[in-house]
Amino acid sequence: MSEQQQFDVVVIGAGPAGYHAAIRAAQLGLKTACIDAALGKDGKPALGGTCLRVGCIPSKALLDSSRQFWNMGHIFDQHGISFDKPAIDVKKMVARKDGIVKQFTGGIAALFKANKITAFHGYGQLQPGNVVSVKQHDGSTVELKGTNVILAAGSDSIELPFAKFGEHIIDNVGALDLEKVPKRLGVIGAGVIGLELGSVWKRLGAEVTILEGLPNFLAAADAEVAKVAAREFKKQGLDIKLGCKCTATEVKKDGVHISYTDDKGAAQELVVDKLLVAVGRRAATKGLLADGTGVQLNERGQIVVDEHCHTGVDGVWAVGDCVRGPMLAHKGFEEGIAVAELIAGLPGHVNFDTIPWVIYTEPEIAWVGKTEEQLKAEGIPYKAGSFPFAAVGRAVAMAEPAGFVKVLAHAETDTILGMHLVGVNVSELVHEGVLAMEFKGSADDLARICHAHPSLSEAVHDAAMAVHKRAIHKAN
Ligand SMILES: Cc1cc2nc3c(=O)[nH]c(=O)nc-3n(C[C@H](O)[C@H](O)[C@H](O)COP(=O)(O)OP(=O)(O)OC[C@H]3O[C@@H](n4cnc5c(N)ncnc54)[C@H](O)[C@@H]3O)c2cc1C
Repeated sequence: MSEQQQFDVVVIGAGPAGYHAAIRAAQLGLKTACIDAALGKDGKPALGGTCLRVGCIPSKALLDSSRQFWNMGHIFDQHGISFDKPAIDVKKMVARKDGIVKQFTGGIAALFKANKITAFHGYGQLQPGNVVSVKQHDGSTVELKGTNVILAAGSDSIELPFAKFGEHIIDNVGALDLEKVPKRLGVIGAGVIGLELGSVWKRLGAEVTILEGLPNFLAAADAEVAKVAAREFKKQGLDIKLGCKCTATEVKKDGVHISYTDDKGAAQELVVDKLLVAVGRRAATKGLLADGTGVQLNERGQIVVDEHCHTGVDGVWAVGDCVRGPMLAHKGFEEGIAVAELIAGLPGHVNFDTIPWVIYTEPEIAWVGKTEEQLKAEGIPYKAGSFPFAAVGRAVAMAEPAGFVKVLAHAETDTILGMHLVGVNVSELVHEGVLAMEFKGSADDLARICHAHPSLSEAVHDAAMAVHKRAIHKAN
C-alpha cells in the first residue's frame, strides 16, 4: 500500500454525474481525483459511464443508423427517390457506433487532463473518515483522502431471476452489440430502453414483441401523447403487449421460450431468437461502502441524500443514478455541477420541476413539467392548448406529420405548468418549455415570441396560442 494521497475532492465514478462534478470542482480550483472502474470494448479504461459507453450515445448512434435505413424503405419514395433493395451491414453500423463511443470516452480523458484532474482506473470503496481505497486494474491499491467525497457510482441493469443474462438473453450492452439482425426479438419492458432498442432492431427488419407488465402504455407520459405514440408504433409493426407478467424463460435449440400470462390471465408462450430484458436499472452501490462510513442506503439500494445531494456524513455527497430521482444523464449533470459548487461555497441548485424527459423513438416523445392527469389529481386548475404537426408546413415538407405539441398553463395565472410533445425532433423542441418554465413564463409569453417560419417550433407557438383559443392555423 502506497502513502495516502490528499485531494480536496475525490469522485467515485466518471459517468455523467461524476465527470461533471469533477470538471466543475477542478474549474473552481479544487484539487480533484476521479476514480472509474470501467473498461471499453478494447479492454482499456473508458471514462463517461453508462451514458457514453453503453447508454445514451451508442443507443442514439444506432437509432440514427436504423432510422436512415427505415426511411429508405418508408419515406424516400414520397420524395421521389428510388434505389435498388436497401441493405444493412450490421457490423459496419456497430463499428460506427464504437467509433463514436471511443471518440467521446477519449474526450472525457482529454478534459480530465486539461482540467488537471487525476484519474484512477479501478474500484473505489469509501472507508470511514472520507478515505477512498482504490483497487487499480494493475493490481495495486492506493488510498485517497478527500476533504469531500462525491459518490457517483451510477446504475446497472436489473436482471430477472428467471432470465439470466447470457448469449441469448441480453441487456442494453448486448442489444447495442448484436452481430446480425435477429429474426425474432423479444423485449421485456416497454420503458425508454425497451422502446428505443426495440425500435432499432425493428427498423432493421426484426420481428419485435414487447411484453409490458403494466396495463397502461407509457404511464408516466401524458395520456394523449402515449396514445399517439402507441398508434404510430403499431403502424411500424412494433407488437406491444400490455398487462403481461413474464414468469419463466428457457433457452432451447429453437430460441428463448418466454412463459407469461397475458392481460386476461391466460398462460402464453413467446419464442424469440434474442430476448432483451429492459425492466429498469438499480443503483450500483454494491461494495461501494465499507462498514462504518455512516452513509445510508434505502430499500432500493440507493444512497440516501437530502435535496442538496448531501448524505448527512460530513463531506460526503452522492449524485446521479445512485440516488433518488429520475435516472437521466442530464439530471446527473446538474447534480454533479451543483455539488461541486456547494463544496466551493457557491449556491449550487437543481430544479427537479424542469427536468426534461425524452424517448428517442419515431416519433420522438418529450415532456417537461406536469401531465394533465397529474394536474387533475392535484386539483390544480389549468388550461390546455395543443397543435398538430400535420398543420405545420415544415413537418409536412419533411413527410413527418405525426404528433402534436400540448401546452398546459395555470387557469388563473397562465404560468406554464407542463409541455408535452410527440413528433419529429421534439427532443429539441421540449427545451422551449424548459426555458419558459425556468423563467416562470406564461402561455401568453410563449405565444408572443416570434418563431421562425417554416420551422417545427411553430407547433409550440400555435399550441401556446391555442391555450387562449387564438391559434392561427387551426380552428379553436
Ligand atoms: C441503453 C440506455 C440508453 C440511455 N439513454 C439515455 C438518454 O438518451 N438520455 C438520458 O438522459 N439518459 C439515458 N440513459 C440513462 C443514463 O445513461 C444514466 O442516467 C446516466 O449514465 C447516469 O449517470 P451516472 O453518472 O449517475 O452513472 P453511470 O453513467 O452509470 O456512471 C457510473 C460510473 O461509475 C463507475 N463505478 C461504479 N462503481 C464504481 C466503483 N466502486 N469504483 C469505480 N468506479 C465505479 C461505473 O463503472 C461507471 O462508469 C440511458 C441508459 C441506457 C442503459
